Amino acid sequence: MARKCSRTACSARPTVTLSFQYNRAVVWIDDLLDEADPHSYDLCPKHGERVTAPTGWHLEDRRRRHSHGFPDRIAG
Ligand SMILES: [Zn+2]
Repeated sequence: MARKCSRTACSARPTVTLSFQYNRAVVWIDDLLDEADPHSYDLCPKHGERVTAPTGWHLEDRRRRHSHGFPDRIAG
């Protein structure tokens, strides 16, 4: 089962999964889930890096492998 980036007109292979929780106004970026989730969006590296949270929302990057940015220690 080949999965593709959720962005229109992008057929790149996804590496991250984006999910939302509306009642908490949180956007999560995770390593690609093993199985496609109808409530989540699979994104390729290019589009995954461009994700921004809507105004008033909190973006939480839960990926294990960060190339740059904040240390992962907080996640425990
Ligand atoms: Zn893409």
